[in-house]
Amino acid sequence: MATDARAGLLSVDLSAVVANWRLLRERHQGGEVAAVVKADAYGLGAAPVGRALRDAGCRTFFVAHLAEGMALRQALGHGPAIVVLNGFRPGADEDAALWPALNSLADVEAWADSARVHGMRHKVLLHLDTGMARLGLDSREAERLIQDPWPLVPLDLRYVMTHLACADEPDHPLNAAQAARFAGLADRLPAARRSVANSSGIFLGPAFASDLARPGAALYGINPTPGRPNPMRQVVRLTAPILQLREIAAGESVGYGASFTATRPSRIATVAAGYADGYLRALSGRSRAVLDGAEIPLVGRVSMDLLTFDVTDAPAAAPGRHVTLIGDGITPDELAAAAGTIGYEILTSLGPRYRRIHA
Ligand SMILES: *Cc1c(COP(=O)(O)O)cnc(C)c1O
Repeated sequence: MATDARAGLLSVDLSAVVANWRLLRERHQGGEVAAVVKADAYGLGAAPVGRALRDAGCRTFFVAHLAEGMALRQALGHGPAIVVLNGFRPGADEDAALWPALNSLADVEAWADSARVHGMRHKVLLHLDTGMARLGLDSREAERLIQDPWPLVPLDLRYVMTHLACADEPDHPLNAAQAARFAGLADRLPAARRSVANSSGIFLGPAFASDLARPGAALYGINPTPGRPNPMRQVVRLTAPILQLREIAAGESVGYGASFTATRPSRIATVAAGYADGYLRALSGRSRAVLDGAEIPLVGRVSMDLLTFDVTDAPAAAPGRHVTLIGDGITPDELAAAAGTIGYEILTSLGPRYRRIHA
């Protein structure tokens, strides 16, 4: 495909991803640190991110969907463990040697049946839901499995895992409650290694350390300690070109709904990105970009394919010049705060029309 000089450019700094993984490994006061690369590594490219982390020594990867696991196996080759958090039916991975998370008693029984029929000890994770009410065995199912653990016998139970609901709020009482519930269940199940912390969980201290941490967001530069300085390196740089400049008079408006009216003679730069590219419409009038070190405010509504910035005070503005939408001090967390969401959604929304560069 020909490269389009009028499209945005999304650069992913793989050495920053690796540095972030190493920092998490230092901070995790337990065992191994995996990498969560679901949703195409939060929009940044699961194959290049996965290969960089594999080469740095990461041995366990988590995806959400079976198809993500199959694609990652292609990218990584045999060796690394790949866990599918949403699970899949026995045999559906067509010998890609993916590990299912078992999220219900029915999952456990289906995999136990398959193991007996095929005489194979499938590698599996058992997911206990200790406070999310979302995915995994609830407490009643977990107690039934404890009373009657026979279905686990033919399986190779690699990990028992749980997921924290409030890890980004260190003082939330649910954190300690989940840790206690998890220990109370796992202690009575057949012995297996344990997996607890996500990115923020790693920073909660030794009570949340386990044999395998599962960070995603922090690998990609999102602050795992909201309200405190971000210990992670920034990974993403997003720029998009100016398509046109125009001069408007005081009193003239910009964009849909005429939501911005100039109070002085102004120069407006029209930039090639919009909400179809994941530049959220909620950012209308609430965001900024950087051009040659100068801050330029977003004015008017975010359109599907276009953004408008006030470049009256940015003499470098010219058609073809790229403005920085993420980077140069603008973080996914900053955009998220302005849009009323979280950095995760900013990253996973980054659209397919950007040219992605992994360096
Ligand atoms: C997405 C996910 C993670 C990673 O969480 P981050 O907050 O991105 O570190 C870990 N475990 C489970 C079960 C998940 O669904």
